[in-house]
Amino acid sequence: MSTAFRWVEQARSGRARAGHLHTAHGTVPTPTFMPVGTVGTVKAMTMDAVRSTGAGIVLGNTYHLMLRPGAERVRALGGLHRFMDWPGPILTDSGGFQVMSLGPLRKLDQDGVTFSSHIDGSKHRLTPERSTDIQHALDATITMCFDECPALPAAPEVIAQSMRMSMRWAARCREAFVQRLGYAQYGIIQGGTEAELRAESVRALTGIGFEGYAIGGLAVGEGQELMFSTLDATTPLIPWDSPRYLMGVGTPDDLLGSVERGVDMFDCVMPTRAGRTARAYTERGTLNLRNARHAVDSRPISPHCDCLACTRHSRAYLHHLFRANEILGPMLLTWHNLAYYQRLMRGIRSAIVEGSLEAHAAWLRAQWAMEDWTPDEMPLPDIPPVP
Ligand SMILES: [Zn+2]
Repeated sequence: MSTAFRWVEQARSGRARAGHLHTAHGTVPTPTFMPVGTVGTVKAMTMDAVRSTGAGIVLGNTYHLMLRPGAERVRALGGLHRFMDWPGPILTDSGGFQVMSLGPLRKLDQDGVTFSSHIDGSKHRLTPERSTDIQHALDATITMCFDECPALPAAPEVIAQSMRMSMRWAARCREAFVQRLGYAQYGIIQGGTEAELRAESVRALTGIGFEGYAIGGLAVGEGQELMFSTLDATTPLIPWDSPRYLMGVGTPDDLLGSVERGVDMFDCVMPTRAGRTARAYTERGTLNLRNARHAVDSRPISPHCDCLACTRHSRAYLHHLFRANEILGPMLLTWHNLAYYQRLMRGIRSAIVEGSLEAHAAWLRAQWAMEDWTPDEMPLPDIPPVP
């Protein structure tokens, strides 16, 4: 039983949208945050744990999976959903960003990229067609276009040239894409922080026609203000009924500001990476659990979190785990951070549906600006319940 791929609006608040993304592998409420499962695993998490945080869709990565274990092997084993035990939707990166990040290990031409594996130095080649084929072999619910993402800052001519090549590649990706009911391919809008280039890129991609549109090439060092102004110039040009995905973003504050600017989907390594380095996200900013002040603190990380770390363990215990380099520390804290990101998105989504986004956003920002809870506050926090 399959369903057509489409995004359906449920409510809007200014440019912010709440809706449902219907796919062959299930329906995801948006806005949504996608945990990063680069190598076919959300690091330090079982898939049951990922599910328990409320995640509806996860990310996989073409570059990493083509090198190890290989796309054909994943296909032979029933596809990525079965291989990693995630029956829900999976979006796969095209590999473009990772390959471009290889620096001297890669050689770019108009047709594609030749590169050496970071694992064993073996030579490989990715082209728009090959990347699309690999994502098909992985059985990605959402296939991303293979594109080039220049590092910022770069001269406008460099960004323009790169964007135009990515647009030519996007047409080749579309040509190579096998359309199936409930599956999608997203075009990636490039153009750095230049509004005219972004507009040109949107025109090129909507001219080809994709099921969704991603905004690429941001969060690469340009800063939040430029990122937001670029979104301001870009999201209004994207067809309203198409899902919009901001790639590689970001902090809780980035997510809120981007939802306010019309973005529906996000992915970022921050919550998982921070979880492995003892940094905990909370409604009141981040905590470093290695810090000695947590050593005898019997409170949970957050009084509002229903994750395993918060319902069963103290800050003192987590502090101990990280000090002792125990593997359970990264596991529990990754769980907590993903639970926080999902709770954040659920709260924002509910606020859009209820017509209270402005008040909710003000409350979130006021909380982020506060210090950690005082011990007195813990039993009866002055915080509205989050669905
Ligand atoms: Zn927690």
